[in-house]
Amino acid sequence: MSNFKRTQLNPFYLNGERAMVSLGPLTEKKYCPYSCAFCYVQDDFGSYVSLDLDDIINFLVVNRNKYNIIYVSGDTDSFAPPRTDKGVQLLSMISQSVECDLLFTTRAVLPDFVLNRLSEIADRQRKINKLLIAATSITRYSEEVAYLEPAPIPSPDERIQHMKNMKALGAVTMLGLRPFLPMVNVNDYIAILDKIHPFLDIALGERFYFIRNGNIQKRVFPNGIPKEIEKEIKRGQKMYFDDNQSYWDTWSSLSVERTVAEHCRKRGIIFAMHSTEALEEYRKTL
Ligand code: SF4
Repeated sequence: MSNFKRTQLNPFYLNGERAMVSLGPLTEKKYCPYSCAFCYVQDDFGSYVSLDLDDIINFLVVNRNKYNIIYVSGDTDSFAPPRTDKGVQLLSMISQSVECDLLFTTRAVLPDFVLNRLSEIADRQRKINKLLIAATSITRYSEEVAYLEPAPIPSPDERIQHMKNMKALGAVTMLGLRPFLPMVNVNDYIAILDKIHPFLDIALGERFYFIRNGNIQKRVFPNGIPKEIEKEIKRGQKMYFDDNQSYWDTWSSLSVERTVAEHCRKRGIIFAMHSTEALEEYRKTL
C-alpha cells in the first residue's frame, strides 16, 4: 500500500474543481478488491479514509463550494464485490443530498439487482439537470497482456457489455483506455472502441505513472524495462490528479494518442487525455 497516508482532516481529494471520494480501503491490508498491475495506490497515490456513508455525505455538503463534480472512486473500486450494494447506496445518497454532476467508476460488471437503482439515480440527476456519468476502464484487449488486469476483474468483453447496460439505463458513458501502456498494442484500443460503439459517449487516455523501482514497475515490467521504452520515460513528474508530493516517472506515446483520437473522431466519440476536457466537450453537445 501507498506510503502517503490521509487523515480525518484530509480524508479525500478536493482541488477546487472536483471532489473525489470513495468507501476507502477494503481492509487494513488490501485497498481494493482488484489488483491491477499498474494501480497507482501500490506506490504513492494515497488511499482515502474509510468513513461512514453519512460522514462522506457530510464532507461533501460542508465542502460544497470547493467542487463542481463528484467522482466516486479514485483509490479503490467502491462498486466491486463485496461492496456493490454499499457503493450504489453511497451514489444514491449523494444524488439526494448534493445537486452536482456525479461520476462513478468501476471495473465490476454491476448485477441486475442494482441496475434499477442506478436507473432511478440517473432519472433523479436528469430532473435536477445534472449528469450521472458511468465510467469503466479497460486497459487491454489481448490475452497476452491479461496479467495487467488479473482475475477477478471481469473480462474486457464483460466490461464492454457493462457499458452498454449503463447507456441503456440513461447514464453518460465514459471509457478509460487508461493508462496507455507500452506493452499494449494500439489495435487493442481500436478493437475495444469498435465493440463498444455506439454505446459510448467519451473515451479517455492517460499517461502511465510509476515510481522508479517501485511496486508498479515490478508488476508492469516483470522482465525489466526494455531499452527502447526507457528512452521514452520522463522523470520527476507530479500527478495532476492527486496531492501526493512524490515525483513519478511517466510514459506516454503521441502516436498512440493520435491514433486513438482519430478513431474516436471517426466514430463520433469524444476523446481526451483528461476527463475535465472531455466533459467540457460533452456539455457543449447538450
Ligand atoms: S480497480 Fe482501480 S483502485 Fe482497484 S486495483 Fe485497479 S486501478 Fe487500483
